[in-house]
Amino acid sequence: MKGLDKLSGRGFSCRMYVLGPNKDRHMVHPQTVYSTDDFVGCPEEMQSIPSKGIVSFFMEIPDGNQHLEISFSSMGDGQREYKVPLWQAYELAMRISVEGVNPITCLPSTNRLEQYVVNCPRCGSCMSANNFCSKCGIWIPPQNYLSTRGSNISEMACVGFYTDDGFRRFKFTSEERGIATQIMGSDAQSGVIDVSFYRSLEPKKAHIVYREGDSGEVMRDSRRRAVGAGTKIEGAVAPDQGDVRDFEATPAVTLRLHLLSPEEMSRVLRSGASVKRAGALAGLMLADED
Ligand SMILES: [Zn+2]
Repeated sequence: MKGLDKLSGRGFSCRMYVLGPNKDRHMVHPQTVYSTDDFVGCPEEMQSIPSKGIVSFFMEIPDGNQHLEISFSSMGDGQREYKVPLWQAYELAMRISVEGVNPITCLPSTNRLEQYVVNCPRCGSCMSANNFCSKCGIWIPPQNYLSTRGSNISEMACVGFYTDDGFRRFKFTSEERGIATQIMGSDAQSGVIDVSFYRSLEPKKAHIVYREGDSGEVMRDSRRRAVGAGTKIEGAVAPDQGDVRDFEATPAVTLRLHLLSPEEMSRVLRSGASVKRAGALAGLMLADED
């Protein structure tokens, strides 16, 4: 079963880059991911959930020396089924959940897009004009998502947990040091990264041809490594200049990535094609498989 260079579903996509120290994602190939629906060895809880718009993939969890970046540059290519790429037709918002934590707010993920203009999302008190919460003593990001209103999609990426003046890289560490475990305890969604895409209600321009695309399916397991906070890098969350209500209330699709240990990874890859893909030959090795 072939690996993929991106997670994709319903015309939306993103790529995962696994980088060593001092490496730039522009210099390396995206990490190979696999569709959970292609393998019999993926437990049912890892499969896609079409009714919830969840399309699932898996890859091997990076080791402790590496960090992860989620890039949206892939949205600009490979969309032949759409006459106009979605990002050209609509404004888009991407809300990310890393093991259950929103990396922009560093709070447990909520299932909606939120802007923070008046009240602090942590304590509810009034923030100063520059989004400083004096009660919490921290700067609050302008919103809990990334948006094409304010950023060029070819450069859009999520590189870590947002802090006052930059990002702490997504780094792979022990479960106790995992950010989600520390914030949410046993509610952390260990080893699961969700990227939810929202489309603007109105197209950017008139005359857009849009067809509903593919839908995939999902998976899941337990693991020894978790997503922690690594080296600090400079950066800011580009504010969405428009109204959050310009976006649809529910995501068009959620691309879900399961991070598997090397052992789980080889077990699943050896498990063979799912019934859906291979029909009567399910579970048998096929001649053209890697
Ligand atoms: Zn506060």
